[in-house]
Amino acid sequence: MNNREMLERSLRAVWHPCTQMKHHELLPLVPVARAEGAWLIDFEGNRILDAISSWWVNLLGHGNPRINAAIVRQLQTLEHVMLAGFTHEPVVRLSERLAALAPGRLGHCFYGSDGASAIEIALKMSFHAWRNAGREAKTGFIALENSYHGETLGALSVTDVPLFRDTYAPLLRNCARVPSPDARLAEPGESARDFALRCARALESHLEAHAHQTAALIVEPLVQCAGGMAMHDAEYLRRARELCSRFEVHLIADEIAVGFGRTGTLFACEQAGIAPDFLCLSKGLSGGYLPLSVVMTSDSVYAAFYDDSLARGFLHSHSYTGNALACSAALAVLDILEEDRVIERNRATAAQINKATAPLRDHPQVRNFRNQGMIWAFDAADASPQFARDFFNRAVASGVLLRPLGNTVYWMPPYVLADAEIEFLARSLEQLMQ
Ligand SMILES: *Cc1c(COP(=O)(O)O)cnc(C)c1O
Repeated sequence: MNNREMLERSLRAVWHPCTQMKHHELLPLVPVARAEGAWLIDFEGNRILDAISSWWVNLLGHGNPRINAAIVRQLQTLEHVMLAGFTHEPVVRLSERLAALAPGRLGHCFYGSDGASAIEIALKMSFHAWRNAGREAKTGFIALENSYHGETLGALSVTDVPLFRDTYAPLLRNCARVPSPDARLAEPGESARDFALRCARALESHLEAHAHQTAALIVEPLVQCAGGMAMHDAEYLRRARELCSRFEVHLIADEIAVGFGRTGTLFACEQAGIAPDFLCLSKGLSGGYLPLSVVMTSDSVYAAFYDDSLARGFLHSHSYTGNALACSAALAVLDILEEDRVIERNRATAAQINKATAPLRDHPQVRNFRNQGMIWAFDAADASPQFARDFFNRAVASGVLLRPLGNTVYWMPPYVLADAEIEFLARSLEQLMQ
């Protein structure tokens, strides 16, 4: 198999996600034969630095020997069994470990296979918990402007990215939108924190009027990733937590993109010192190996379903719920994060990346250079519609996978970049901005 053949066969047989397939008449696909560490390698041996962690899922490098070994070990005993009526060691151990690590007391883990299904689960569970408590009027959800929570119909209802949402609007449920505390939207002279407080007051006014018919507020803690790596002050989360408690509305933290160290702490909520009522995790959960997601919730939500009546139970399911291979990958990820003190080590890596990319901060074409943990972004002055595609193509041609969101260029690399790779990334970014 060579690059050309792979590409032609793929375009005939595979409908690629998030893609206008006709654009591939001009743009080549990138065929990947294998991958190691932070590198993707094509069929002719060309190497591309995966600076976006393969859509934000890969934490510890491709082909990580310890994750590989854990999956192989699991494969020799049990690949999968249905989780309704059955249980197995990897899912029990993973649930116990996550419960010990998550903020607050989120001791009940409900599994799905991808991020969007975790959001569906959290929305349904929140609504159903209120219903079981006799609060049938609580059927509404509040999301932030510019939010992204996935693309199945329920998740898309709480998503506010026009490109993904507008076409399907007639299929979606109405959902309330409150201002995003995106620090870029602060008035001149207004701090990120003051702006966060102003946005929290808007949330408060909304809740004053609508809390009685609202089941939950859903947020992406610290960084709205798909909405253009929009970063906000942790104060917003503290206020949102207080308001949700005061107005009896669940708080759903969607940490699908930001969990597992991405923002500098294991979970982003830790930086606000808060615990949500539902914590949604996926992407990095399995280190980018296998589809797995989980919704973690509290004793009180769990208790709302615990009853003799079948219909008061949470009757949601997915065929691959709690897949043993995926859980074993997740356990290996948690082992590595802990044994190698990865989050601590990331502080040094982040400092080095900041140093190497410092010249970009003053670049005349660069606006709003920002960083949170292991996420960096800036907005290019060139906001033309072709910018993202052109930049992606030029980046791939120069050996780096960077895929801007509109005119926002970002990198969120796996946590394994070596010095030379950091230099390569920084010099590539500079050249691409010339
Ligand atoms: C990616 C993402 C989702 C959806 O996850 P999928 O696995 O792509 O369905 C939901 N929320 C956030 C914040 C995400 O980044």
